[in-house]
This record gives sequence, structure tokens and C-alpha cells, in this order.
Amino acid sequence: MAQLGHVAVVALCPLLGAERKTYAPTHEVTNVGSDRSQLSRMSEQARAAIGSEAIEAVADRGYYSGEEIVACEQAGVTVYLPKPITSGLNVKGRFGKQDFVYVAADDVYLCPAGEQLVYHYTNEEDGKTLRRYWTNACQGCALKGQCTTGKERRISRWEHEAVLEAVQARLDRNPAKMRLRRQTVEHPFGTIKSSMGSTHFQMKTLKHVGTEMAQHVLAYNMKRVMSILGVGGLIEAIRA
Ligand code: SF4
Repeated sequence: MAQLGHVAVVALCPLLGAERKTYAPTHEVTNVGSDRSQLSRMSEQARAAIGSEAIEAVADRGYYSGEEIVACEQAGVTVYLPKPITSGLNVKGRFGKQDFVYVAADDVYLCPAGEQLVYHYTNEEDGKTLRRYWTNACQGCALKGQCTTGKERRISRWEHEAVLEAVQARLDRNPAKMRLRRQTVEHPFGTIKSSMGSTHFQMKTLKHVGTEMAQHVLAYNMKRVMSILGVGGLIEAIRA
């Protein structure tokens, strides 16, 4: 996403051709100040625009939303998206959830002290079904000061947590994806922002800004296609 004035622009920029050049197949102007609810909608728009069933969505941490990731994966979009660390526990010098390892075969979490946090009950919070795990060993644990101020440390597991773990494992196996994202997505935004100049949008209201942005993206894509295929190639493609 690029912040241009008070308007956020989200876009997906796939690779085109053997030379791996980028273009923007879709974009959207929104006045929602965060990308967290954009991933599945933009992925679907990109899939429709490029006419490919199999697509990969590579995004930065700002897009991280469990619900959005699950929606993408269920729709067949392969997601690469690093998980942000938001709990603040690490800042306080305490273990975060990432320090607890889930063992699927036993349905337990292993804590930094090597204890097993076992399942106790399931409840709902903010519309999410969460399974709760803990151990009774915390009271005598030498690491308790780094772990919890409560009676015991509890870990919650969302019912779709396995999907998020699979996405993280996929990214761990393919760390170059994030470098590729940086190398590709910055080009359209940098070029479009540079061509817009310091004033950014000239229009007001979401509808008119959307039209203005569409013209910028169209101009960018035309220039990209001319640079990749040449003017003749572009004319041929338009005629086809
Ligand atoms: S306080 Fe409990 S959960 Fe934390 S490290 Fe110790 S035993 Fe494990």
C-alpha cells in the first residue's frame, strides 16, 4: 500500500514475462487507513485481471490478518506474508507466543522451559473460536519471571491457526519471496508517485480520486508494456 495524502492505494504487482518485469493488474483507492482487510479482495481482483487460477500473494506485515489469510488460502491463493510481533511481551522482556512450539501430534504447546501446555477448554473471543492451553508447572518454574505475572501462562490457539502456521512455514522455506516483493512492488509505486509530483491527487472525494488513480495506473501500465513489448507490440496486443 502507498499512502498518498489521506487516501490509501492498494495494489498487487505480478511479474510479466521472462524478464520478470512488473505491472499493476489491479488497484483500489480506499480511505481505510490500514491494509489489514485488503488481502483477499485484492488477490481476487488480481486473479480476475490476469486470468490465472493459480496466483501467489506476497505482501508485507501491514496486510497481516488471520481471517484474510484463511480466506485467500481457502480460495486457492498461495500466501507469503510474515507475521508481525504485536503482543508487546517481547518488548517487556517476556516470552512471546512465538517462543512456544505447537506439537500437532499431541495437541500441546512446548514452552521455553520444556513443559507441555495441554488443552483445557474452548471459547469465543471477538468472533474467533479459541482453544486454551496451559500447564500447572508454572508456579515452580525458574523462568516464570520471563513468562507471566499470572498464576500460569496461558496460550490461545485459533481454530484456523494451522493455516497461519503453514503460511509461515512456506515463507521460512522461501525467504527470497520477500526480497522479490521489495524489488517488484516498489517500482510501480515509486514511478507513479514520482509522476504525480509533490501534490499527489488533484481531485477530491473517493470516487474522483479513484478515477484519477485509475488514469495514473493506466499510464504506468502502458509505459511498462511499451518498454517490455515495444510500441508495435502494444498496438498488436490491443488489436488482438
Ligand atoms: S512459566 Fe510456565 S509456561 Fe512459562 S516457561 Fe515456565 S513452565 Fe513454561
